[in-house]
Amino acid sequence: MTDCLFCKIIAGEIPSTKVYENESVYAFRDINPQAPTHILVVPREHIGSVAELTSANSAAAAKCLEAVAEIARQEGLTGGYRVVSNCGDDAGQTVKHLHFHILGGERLGDRMA
Ligand code: 5GP
Ligand code: ZN
Repeated sequence: MTDCLFCKIIAGEIPSTKVYENESVYAFRDINPQAPTHILVVPREHIGSVAELTSANSAAAAKCLEAVAEIARQEGLTGGYRVVSNCGDDAGQTVKHLHFHILGGERLGDRMA
């Protein structure tokens, strides 16, 4: 996708602070962190959101969640962390490329919404 911010970050056209990558996944620090550790995990394949997942492309989401577990170990999030994927306007999704937020490094709030 030529006009997608995260596709441009994956391609290196927009700089980012990489924390992890493999053949399917790229992960980088959120530019506006909402917790001491705030990382975005995205599939290299452009998928708009969870709402676009099907049996044909869900392996990309599984790869992202495998990466979440690996990154959490790498970042030392031994006390736990939250994984969030905003989907659509009511959830406040601002970048229409599937991504999983990893939030941690402190005791997070009890409310999720
Ligand atoms: P959403 O609101 O779609 O769930 O999350 C998008 C996230 O992308 C936000 O947390 C926002 O701070 C982050 N973000 C937006 N633009 C950039 C950018 O250019 N670089 C980085 N590293 N993060 C960004
Ligand atoms: Zn994209």
